Amino acid sequence: MTAALPADPLPHDPMPGCALPGTPLADALPGINACVHCGFCLQACPTYLNLEDENDSPRGRIFLMRSLLEGTVKPDDPSVQQHIDQCLGCRACEPVCPSGVPYGQLLEATRATLRESRPTPFLARLILFVFAREWLLRPAMFFSRILAATPIPTLLSGINGRLGFAMAMLASTGRSIERSRYRPVRHGERGKVAMLRGCVMDGLFNTTNRATERVLAVNGYAMLDAPGQRCCGALHAHAGDLATARSLARRNIAAFERSGAQFIAVNAAGCGAIMKEYGHLLKDDPEWHERAARVGARVRDVSELLAAAGPREGGPLPIRVTYDAPCHLQHAQRVTQAPLTVLAAIPGLELVPLHDSDQCCGSAGIYNLIEPDTSDAVLAPKLANIRATGAPWVATGNAGCLMQIGAGLIRAEISARSIHPVDLLDASYAALGQ
Ligand code: SF4
Ligand code: SF4
Repeated sequence: MTAALPADPLPHDPMPGCALPGTPLADALPGINACVHCGFCLQACPTYLNLEDENDSPRGRIFLMRSLLEGTVKPDDPSVQQHIDQCLGCRACEPVCPSGVPYGQLLEATRATLRESRPTPFLARLILFVFAREWLLRPAMFFSRILAATPIPTLLSGINGRLGFAMAMLASTGRSIERSRYRPVRHGERGKVAMLRGCVMDGLFNTTNRATERVLAVNGYAMLDAPGQRCCGALHAHAGDLATARSLARRNIAAFERSGAQFIAVNAAGCGAIMKEYGHLLKDDPEWHERAARVGARVRDVSELLAAAGPREGGPLPIRVTYDAPCHLQHAQRVTQAPLTVLAAIPGLELVPLHDSDQCCGSAGIYNLIEPDTSDAVLAPKLANIRATGAPWVATGNAGCLMQIGAGLIRAEISARSIHPVDLLDASYAALGQ
């Protein structure tokens, strides 16, 4: 008689004696196990470089994640929460990791698990609540737009603290490049595109959204509408509110499926990063997983679509520009060359190299409002490097980075302005009367 083999504990109990079974963190154990503790990620991590504490490094935070699962630290331990909160989620640790640790996913799983043990800060809860509800978001953005058009944000941008910084962020949104109107002529047939309007992009950078539509049209893309789309859910996922992120993702998946578009253009790197990962976000949802993966595979940063088309050369725009790479474009989406290809299509534009352009600016969604001290510390070297270029324009393709850098420039009294690369290409096409 053959003795019965003991049941394989792996499928249901990946870590024997796991202190947090059934949580998103327990689900993320394979990613935690992938870390070989080599430390290659330390020098890429802005919080480690600024705070000089191993617990504020990727390797240290992964060690804390494992300790939470082993039960040697508790989810309600304030110091554990602080080290996890202080992570920017910039994902600069991912491209340098030889083991392919999916750090961004581990962070979201950890925050979702810790969320059960303590209340989310009031300001974060308020922002996440508003962004998930169209009927609140629209009036909030309308009010912000009205306020941004007055001198009030500029007048209050110098006051200390978060209010002053928030006012400077608003003031920075009204400083785009002047351009004449033109009617885009579509050259060629490169496919049908629907655009994610976005929350902040639609509310405060509407000029950039219109420019995005025009430059895509000039480069042969047929623009379609995708009604019913909502916030992408990135802010919620990064804060650990995965339920709301998934709910918003489902709305977007359905909207973009209905649009019939081949590509989904996104001009905010943080939104594009999560949308490309909708398949992972909904991996445990049998009804939506495949649909999410299919829609995610159609998402492109606007610079990718433009670079694939050339892009068409514009008219002369004799200005000096430096480029800052958004973390969620460079590290999360691994899109590095496309924005530079867009800028290279502008005759007369002089691109000035920016030292440490791949380093985070400290925006990180709502991080700059929740963790202001660390955010300021991360922003300071960025501003010094921008000042050193002497360039009057800083191009960057993410709403958060545009406002974070724009606000920092205003408060540091540096005359440079932040601008989306698409706005520069649009101004170049306007110069051509395209
Ligand atoms: S580089 Fe990757 S494997 Fe090495 S310590 Fe960092 S996360 Fe772990
Ligand atoms: S996401 Fe950014 S801040 Fe967080 S551990 Fe990785 S490199 Fe450091």
